[in-house]
Amino acid sequence: MMEVAEKVVFDKVNINLYSKKNPVEVPVLENKIITSGKSPNFIRHITFDVSGTLLENNIVCGQSIGVLPPGFDHKGKPHKLRLYSVSSPSKGEDGNGKLYSTTVKRLIDENWNSGDLFTGVCSNYLASLKPGDTVRLTGPSGKRFLLPKNATDFNYVFFATGTGIAPFRGMVKELFDKGMTNDVVLIFGCPYRTDFLYEDYFNSIANKYSNFNYLVCVSREEKRRDGSPNYVQCKLIDESPLLNPILEKENTLVYICGLKGMEYDIYRNLAVQGFDSYLNFKKQMDANPANWSWKDIKSNVKPAERVFVETY
Ligand code: FAD
Ligand code: NAP
Repeated sequence: MMEVAEKVVFDKVNINLYSKKNPVEVPVLENKIITSGKSPNFIRHITFDVSGTLLENNIVCGQSIGVLPPGFDHKGKPHKLRLYSVSSPSKGEDGNGKLYSTTVKRLIDENWNSGDLFTGVCSNYLASLKPGDTVRLTGPSGKRFLLPKNATDFNYVFFATGTGIAPFRGMVKELFDKGMTNDVVLIFGCPYRTDFLYEDYFNSIANKYSNFNYLVCVSREEKRRDGSPNYVQCKLIDESPLLNPILEKENTLVYICGLKGMEYDIYRNLAVQGFDSYLNFKKQMDANPANWSWKDIKSNVKPAERVFVETY
């Protein structure tokens, strides 16, 4: 294991092999629901066959693909492109770079103003596709939310909420296929126990490799001792005996994907545990990070070079 910090360098990756003006049309191979039983959430694992296109063998785990849904918006303009993280390793689901998947949650809600049913355009289009249907894709996109060169030389702490798990499925597969011996911790948050995503896969890796830890936070069915919701950022406090020795290593990287809300609390809790080296500060903050407000964190605390963030 390395004693000194390894510089984080990425391989050059392809981006925008297909654009909005020049998308590629590919068939859906599989579309299956992965939330279970009586979950109120509908999340699907959707696999595209990109064989024979420029995307074949040219998508790297952590990257996203663009989807162009058919039809027009209320202004009569073609629907805009939406991005979806690839949940496959770089060599694809098939090991030959021909099949890549994503993890899509149907956006279903009530309109905040009218109270009418609100269904997201692209997520529902994708989730309703059948095997053999075709879809227009762009991309790949993303140059920084990737595993570094010499990926197995690092340790990783991955934070995911909901479909933010997608890139980490690909990354975990990639790392353990490459014989990962350093530590990987995946911290996943979902509302209900029916919403675990790829649970069998992550449990199987945890059972097989003692250097992989899979921690879950079920926000609406578990409370912490103080009554607060069990969110992913709380593991930095509640699981500090596991996490601190990993975070102390200079070759540990932190990745955050999913809801924006978790980001600031992760920064605060990293600082509470003394891990300021993961952060850059625009101005001097209160000596006690527990006092930091979200507004202060938003303006003054930024991820340092060992932290990678994709939150929305
Ligand atoms: P839209 O039709 O675009 O509706 C969403 C819009 O409607 C938003 O502007 C929102 O403010 C508004 N809205 C939402 N609810 C209501 C309501 N009740 N009333 C009124 N307005 C409302 N998503 C995934 O599922 N899986 C992924 O792997 C994934 N990866 C992503 C990667 C990146 C880099 C990015 C940027 C986003 C990713 N997303 C992912 C999100 C995805 O791109 C879409 O934003 C999401 O699927 C919703 O799109 P939609 O077309 O269904 O909804
Ligand atoms: P979700 O089911 O709404 O939430 C997942 C979990 O996060 C729930 O347990 C939720 O708890 C919890 N949560 C809510 N607020 C939180 C906070 N402030 N801190 C920590 N946890 C919090 O998630 P989702 O609907 O799948 O949304 C995932 C988001 O990730 C979407 O916005 C999507 O666009 C984005 N995404 C981005 C990428 C990417 O950039 N590459 C990839 C995939 C997804 P409660 O609801 O009980 O409060």
